[in-house]
Amino acid sequence: MAVQLTILASGSSGNRAYLETDDARLLIDAGLSARQIRQRLLGIGRTPEKLSGILVTHEHSDHVQGLGVLASKLQIPIYCNRLTREAIELQFRETRFDFRLFSTGASFAVGDVLVDTFSVPHDAYDPVGFLIRTADGNVGFLTDIGHATKLVVERLRPAHALLLEANHDLKLLQDDTKRPWSVKQRIVSRHGHLSNEAAASLAGQIVSADLAHLYLGHLSADCNRPDLAHRAVSDSLLRLGATHVRVETATPSVPCATLCLGKASESVIGRDGGDTPFSVGPCPSPRAAY
Ligand SMILES: [Zn+2]
Ligand SMILES: [Zn+2]
Repeated sequence: MAVQLTILASGSSGNRAYLETDDARLLIDAGLSARQIRQRLLGIGRTPEKLSGILVTHEHSDHVQGLGVLASKLQIPIYCNRLTREAIELQFRETRFDFRLFSTGASFAVGDVLVDTFSVPHDAYDPVGFLIRTADGNVGFLTDIGHATKLVVERLRPAHALLLEANHDLKLLQDDTKRPWSVKQRIVSRHGHLSNEAAASLAGQIVSADLAHLYLGHLSADCNRPDLAHRAVSDSLLRLGATHVRVETATPSVPCATLCLGKASESVIGRDGGDTPFSVGPCPSPRAAY
């Protein structure tokens, strides 16, 4: 079976994605409520009870809100680093979790996948990004990052599909009347979030012949628009001649269509060279229940 990836939601209000292989069913972050996560999983014919684990990038509420009920009640293993565990425990006092700790920068296995972890600059205890390696392709997760680093680019270069933050449009953020100056400063700081322009630049550094699908996520509801984020990043990739990358904007309200990664076949999409061993495209039957 090919790897199936569903971005269940992504935005400043909540982030979670689901990745499934033959032997691993993973939630990546658990923003928003456990009830909403259950509903989104049911929408693709899956249930939280079958999860192998939840990978947590960092402790901000838009990434861990659903843990209290979901992970503790069902005792789903939570994969995070030590400082993130401590921060989660402070938020969910008297809740018992099944933590599986990793050291930032290390890789670990869950079922048949290997998860690479790497540090990202963001105002959390020890925030990380992930590259999930499978026999059928690699999927990267990079949200909540203040600025691009060489390490991040290096770690994500092998990705076939990538979720990348495009948080705000600089002008919309500047003109926003809801946020005080101090909050705006935090957002644009080197440990805040990526603007569309910064995301476009980073996408240009990460892109390789193997990258087939790029999700833009963690868009601010007030200070960004999907069309602005999409245009900024698409234009940057086009200028580089990277016409093989399909760019899609993720939203907090509606899950993206499930994506399948697998060994190359005649269905390989958008490639000029044709020498890749992988294919990335829509799943023929993403809603098959088990
Ligand atoms: Zn976030
Ligand atoms: Zn954050």
